[in-house]
Amino acid sequence: MSYIGRFAPSPSGPLHLGSLVAALGSYFQAKSNNGKWLLRIEDLDPPREVPGAVDQILRALEAYHLPWDGEVVYQSQRHPIYQGQIDLWLESGQAYYCQCTRKQIKASGGYYLGTCRDKHIANTSDCSVRLHVEHDIRFFNDLKHGQIDIPDALAKEDFIIKRRDGLFAYNLAVVLDDIEQGITEVVRGADLIEPTGRQISLYRTLNTPEVSYLHLPLVVDGHGNKLSKQNRARAIDMIEPKVDLINAMQLLGFSLDNEMRDGSVEELIQWGCENWSLKQLPASIEVTS
Ligand code: GLU
Repeated sequence: MSYIGRFAPSPSGPLHLGSLVAALGSYFQAKSNNGKWLLRIEDLDPPREVPGAVDQILRALEAYHLPWDGEVVYQSQRHPIYQGQIDLWLESGQAYYCQCTRKQIKASGGYYLGTCRDKHIANTSDCSVRLHVEHDIRFFNDLKHGQIDIPDALAKEDFIIKRRDGLFAYNLAVVLDDIEQGITEVVRGADLIEPTGRQISLYRTLNTPEVSYLHLPLVVDGHGNKLSKQNRARAIDMIEPKVDLINAMQLLGFSLDNEMRDGSVEELIQWGCENWSLKQLPASIEVTS
């Protein structure tokens, strides 16, 4: 089977050092496997979108010489596909409407306990849709971290596939899209280790073999806070990309000698593809920028 990887940024701001680490790690892993590297813009949540961010992301990938294969996929254009799958599951009883509020769930111990599962609530505008979890995933294998265990309560929880506010849930969209795009391996930041069990549960519900997973170290600042677009982490430099590129490559475990540092961005990327190995990748879940 040929390798197909992807980078799936949300346009909630420009790319920062942490997103560059995710982009580079997934690119190097795809290219060192002679694979394709697809780009998907995860614009599922309009209130969190920053105007101009999509364009900034595309330009940043160009400035860092990370060409994607094929057309860019936008989740905002795929709503009918997400809704179609939800409708099928609602009909078959594999999904159901739920009225519980976050406050109620918090009051009952933090996990949703299936309160609405057998209530047969008819469609109301003030409901979320939950998957009736039949495949509770207790662990999965990560290519760097080995077996990752998932707490029971989390594994068993009927999770949301469409939110009360009408937005499609990230877990649903990501799995339907990864399947449709033929993705064979997901390489992304370690902040997404937690939802991986739910995503595998969706693959099982869809009777589709799941992808393999590699979670890259999450970049945190000196105070241990994750760099994120929402926290307005500094955008990577698009005019002089080398400093951020070298920094991101070091965070991925590369050691670059002076000669390498003098190379062009294109040469550094090429060298990265040729010298990428999971052994050198830090085993820690977090790295400090
Ligand atoms: N859109 C997610 C993010 O920007 C990444 C999703 C994924 O790689 O599965 O953090």
